[in-house]
Amino acid sequence: MDQEFLIKCGHVLTMDPHIGDLVAGDVRVRGDRIVEVGTALASRGAEVIDATGMIVLPGLIDGHRHAWQSLLRGQASDWSFPQYMVEARALYCGCFDPDDAYLANYLGGLESITAGITTIVDHCHLQSTPDVSDALARGLKDSGIGGVFCYALQNVPYYVDGDSIDRDTVRDLLTRAPDAWHDANAARLRDTYFGSGPLSFGIALPESTPYMPAHLSAGILARGEALSPKLVTGHWNAISKPGFYQCTLADLLDVGAFVSPTLLSHNNDLSDIDLKRMATARLGLCTCPDTECGMGLGSLIARRFVDMGGAASLGLDTTSFARADMFKQARLMLQVERKRLADETGNMPSVIGYNTRAVLELLTLTGARSLGMDAEIGSLTPGKRADLILVKQDELTRRADPAATLLFFSDASDIDTVIIAGVIRKRDADLIGIDVEGLRERTTRAVAAVGERYARLPHKQLADVWDGIF
Ligand SMILES: [Zn+2]
Repeated sequence: MDQEFLIKCGHVLTMDPHIGDLVAGDVRVRGDRIVEVGTALASRGAEVIDATGMIVLPGLIDGHRHAWQSLLRGQASDWSFPQYMVEARALYCGCFDPDDAYLANYLGGLESITAGITTIVDHCHLQSTPDVSDALARGLKDSGIGGVFCYALQNVPYYVDGDSIDRDTVRDLLTRAPDAWHDANAARLRDTYFGSGPLSFGIALPESTPYMPAHLSAGILARGEALSPKLVTGHWNAISKPGFYQCTLADLLDVGAFVSPTLLSHNNDLSDIDLKRMATARLGLCTCPDTECGMGLGSLIARRFVDMGGAASLGLDTTSFARADMFKQARLMLQVERKRLADETGNMPSVIGYNTRAVLELLTLTGARSLGMDAEIGSLTPGKRADLILVKQDELTRRADPAATLLFFSDASDIDTVIIAGVIRKRDADLIGIDVEGLRERTTRAVAAVGERYARLPHKQLADVWDGIF
């Protein structure tokens, strides 16, 4: 019989517009499903989890992440976008052997869970060899996180064997169309690792896809579709400069190139017309506040997109830039947007215009819509998957709106309990079943090994490997 437990007496933010908030609410979980939400529910023999003094809400959604970069924590915080492309995407990426790749994605999953993230879209562009691919898929799956492992159809160098490195060879590898072996490799991963459980298989598009002639982009999209993905994701922007705008979205939509649920990230320069096209075609959008602000990628547009009727999520992008913390991303989004609204009028606003609830929706139900998964996750609704978190409140914030407490006064250390598909992954603020000491040792060794390989690379030779492209 399925395990059953009852979360009692929490301040429940269901994020379901038909149920709303319950100040002293209960949530019953059976197996991997939410089966009842209400007040004063009887335990009927279920294990009771006391949520008194805690906020209960759906697990958070991170719509865009490169989990393998968790092993490079903090390295990118001062990188510009062109530096990131060289350092992460031409140099470091070739320095991961399969053990490093496993650990990177395993840690990426764990750091998400500890921060209350139950769903990530892992845009996994480290597919350098079949063994590395296996390790990436296993690492993320073993962490227990839910979401979509999106295999990037994209070539990646592999420097681990110590062969001599030629700049032109690396440039050709990075910039040519994805090699044919990727398709069979991706299908093998899909069939081996993603048959059941909260983590599904998806496809990530190569970076160049939006900038190719539309018929070539359509060819890449068709290669992805042939792999039956649950989700297709991709970095997607327009080329926009004074007097010039180019975007292939309309052409691709016209020929029906987007078939599976699709989530596009970093769409900062898209015109309102193209954003409207995306919304109408039900393509999701993901804004990544820290990296988009930090690397100067352009305006944060999730709010504009939602106002047009689109579905948007927020993403962390990479924890080589900032720690996995969706509340911080949401807070940055909120404040940047408030400042923009004030700048547009030139006056101090008399009403704030954009509030904590609106942004919290991007982390939950609206975020789930952007992944095409709102029938399954995003709110505490009976029948949906049991992905939920309990967040500690202190005595001072008891009268505040819980959404404000979460965004402005909470971080990973306040996340008491994390449940994914009915499995308790974190309780009493500790991850369950993790050998922390062993993990520390393995992490120290892996960070050193990747760092040593990176230090041996011919940096000067490879510094201009993207010249004329990024
Ligand atoms: Zn990205």
